[in-house]
Amino acid sequence: MTNIAFIGLGNMGGPMAANLVNAGHHVVAFDLVEAALHAFVRVGGEAASSAAQAVIDAEVVISMLPAGKHVAGLYLGDEHGSGGLLAQLPKDSLVIDSSTIDAETSRDVGLCANDLGIKFVDAPVSGGTAGAKAGTLSFIVGGEVEAFERAEPILNAMGKNIFHAGPAGAGQVAKMCNNMLLSVLMAGTSEALRMGVENGLDAKVLSDIMVKSSGRNWALEIYNPVPGVMEGTPASNGYQGGFMVDLMNKDLGLALAAAKASDSAVPLGQKASELFKSHGEEGHGGLDFSSIYQRYSNKKV
Ligand code: NAD
Repeated sequence: MTNIAFIGLGNMGGPMAANLVNAGHHVVAFDLVEAALHAFVRVGGEAASSAAQAVIDAEVVISMLPAGKHVAGLYLGDEHGSGGLLAQLPKDSLVIDSSTIDAETSRDVGLCANDLGIKFVDAPVSGGTAGAKAGTLSFIVGGEVEAFERAEPILNAMGKNIFHAGPAGAGQVAKMCNNMLLSVLMAGTSEALRMGVENGLDAKVLSDIMVKSSGRNWALEIYNPVPGVMEGTPASNGYQGGFMVDLMNKDLGLALAAAKASDSAVPLGQKASELFKSHGEEGHGGLDFSSIYQRYSNKKV
């Protein structure tokens, strides 16, 4: 059993913290939303009245927050100079940030933690809210080997694939690369399927052919974007559930900012980002990202 402080009990953090409780850890949590704290107490966790209170006695601190500014504010302090959590933690504590944020903030928090003798890993996840509930998330971890090895048994209680991507910040970079590729694959798959349909082919027949041919990819094989082609996909459920367009746009924003910082050429990522951005701006931000297929159907691309 480990004493864990968990900050951020949202759609992802709530079920992740519950899985830590189920695995026998002592978890004290804090969230700005009181209802989230009540729900956590109902599953056997303990609620704190502030992040500072949650980390008293904690050996490990885990955060699951919306964006980089929340993570920097929590650990390093806010722009008014009020103190962050790192200054309060004992040497040798372990900090695991599972939020999806810019790699620069992860590196900054990692450096500051290192200076204070605190271990830090960035550990963004893949698998969505269903994976968070089922405890089957993939964690993509950045940090020193020693910090990774300490984090691994804790992460195992919330996920089933734990990858070490490299030093601090590398988890964020790997996640951005993956999601940028996913956006390109989903847009490309939608494009090819729509062109086939407009040339008289049946979308299911064309999908079966391409899945056994060189165009095979995850979007086609597991997550077909055409309604009715595959059972159990968001496309066959009015594009409800799954991975929202708004979240894809957030991840593409992080990916393009990272590409700019490293002066990397990402023409396809740029184009996919334009498509998903317009799609979100036209009121589809809450739909699953495979709904990009509708843009091709409506000839809005
Ligand atoms: P969410 O908005 O549901 O939850 C964030 C929680 O953080 C909220 O409950 C909010 O009250 C709390 N919070 C914000 N600032 C805080 C502070 N200073 N102290 C304490 N609590 C604070 O978001 P989510 O869907 O749980 O996502 C969390 C992170 O995981 C994001 O970075 C997101 O990009 C990433 N992610 C989400 C999904 C998904 O499918 N939802 C999938 C993969 C990764």
